[in-house]
Amino acid sequence: MLKKAIVLIYDGLGDRPVDSFGGLTPLEYAKTPNFDKLASRAECGLMHTLGRGFRPGSDTSHLAIFGYAPAEYYPGRGPIEVAGIGLKMADGDVAFRGNLGTVDENMVIQDRRAGRIRDVEPLTKALDGLEIDGVTLIAKPGTAHRAGVVLRGEGLSSAVTDADPHEVGQAVWEVKPTDDSPEAKRTAQILNKFVAKTHDVLNKLEFNKERQSRGDLPGNCLLVRGAGQYRSFPSFKERFGFSACCVAGGGLYKGVGAFLGMDIIDVPGATALPDSDIEAKFKTSFKQLDSHDFIFIHVKAADSLGEDGNPEGKAEFIAKCDKAMALFNNLPKDTLLAVTADHSTPCELKQHSADPVPVMFYGEGVRVDDVTEFGERACAKGSLGHIEGKDIMPQVQNLMGRLHLIGA
Ligand code: ZN
Repeated sequence: MLKKAIVLIYDGLGDRPVDSFGGLTPLEYAKTPNFDKLASRAECGLMHTLGRGFRPGSDTSHLAIFGYAPAEYYPGRGPIEVAGIGLKMADGDVAFRGNLGTVDENMVIQDRRAGRIRDVEPLTKALDGLEIDGVTLIAKPGTAHRAGVVLRGEGLSSAVTDADPHEVGQAVWEVKPTDDSPEAKRTAQILNKFVAKTHDVLNKLEFNKERQSRGDLPGNCLLVRGAGQYRSFPSFKERFGFSACCVAGGGLYKGVGAFLGMDIIDVPGATALPDSDIEAKFKTSFKQLDSHDFIFIHVKAADSLGEDGNPEGKAEFIAKCDKAMALFNNLPKDTLLAVTADHSTPCELKQHSADPVPVMFYGEGVRVDDVTEFGERACAKGSLGHIEGKDIMPQVQNLMGRLHLIGA
């Protein structure tokens, strides 16, 4: 009987026919004996992650796969990124993605990343806990110039524009409400006051004076974007009864895992880039099976290579992933493996598309079909047929004998 599950998601794996590959996709073109071996012992299909005709974002598609309908649960990018840096949110918090940047005396951006500052902890520490009109600013360091920012207080709204103008040479934007609610108006006013106040605090900071004396740019402005309001909801464990963990390199995916209440497992060498140590991720995941029922593994780079319009690089990366897939030959007998992608990122388009992605379920009790290759067109002939992201967790639960009986 299956007791554990691994859901392995290759970001942006799906693609379209590439002329220079004789009309094959990068996944079809790459040498993938290990993917194919698994597929030949698996139940396969195609997945329209958000349903037909919906072009998935990475965050929304992951939520859908884990059983959280984006229309109901997607809070915007802010809360997901903030969860990923380990910041716990409370009901009603408004969360933002943040950068520590450099502005001149007129609040015009000189550098959005404060001279590629490596550690913003001294800066966020100076801002964390500032209060305006009964609202507290919570700021925690992310990687490099990034920070997670939360506004906590009564009567807030995420219906506000960004302060980050996203461009050097532009003045920091005045935050405006995007609806007519008093909450949005109040949040915009408070946020504008915070932008000014954080600039004052940061400008006076000894840490920045030292940076300047060394010729480095000061991190003297907190640039926020991607507002989203956090509403508490049942965690993954509460929904499905699985103690779950997330093995990912990219911040957004750690964010999705943390947002759903999964434990975040850091793997040295997991970079979310083509050089990522995928074998290390898989080995770490196998170890986590001792303490977790459910492992979410995320592998990023196929998506980035698709966005670069680089089919050769994508096929090469897929072949590298395939080598690591050999480790699944030793998958424990009580463990289910699902392999899929969150969406397609065709090299031709250099962006996400709604083209469905291959999916396979491998493990004891699975009704193996005739598919012998893990590819977009091969999996179209699989017995799962066309499914959606929301069908993944019911399939996992069913194979593991965890679905409730309807009726008698
Ligand atoms: Zn993605």
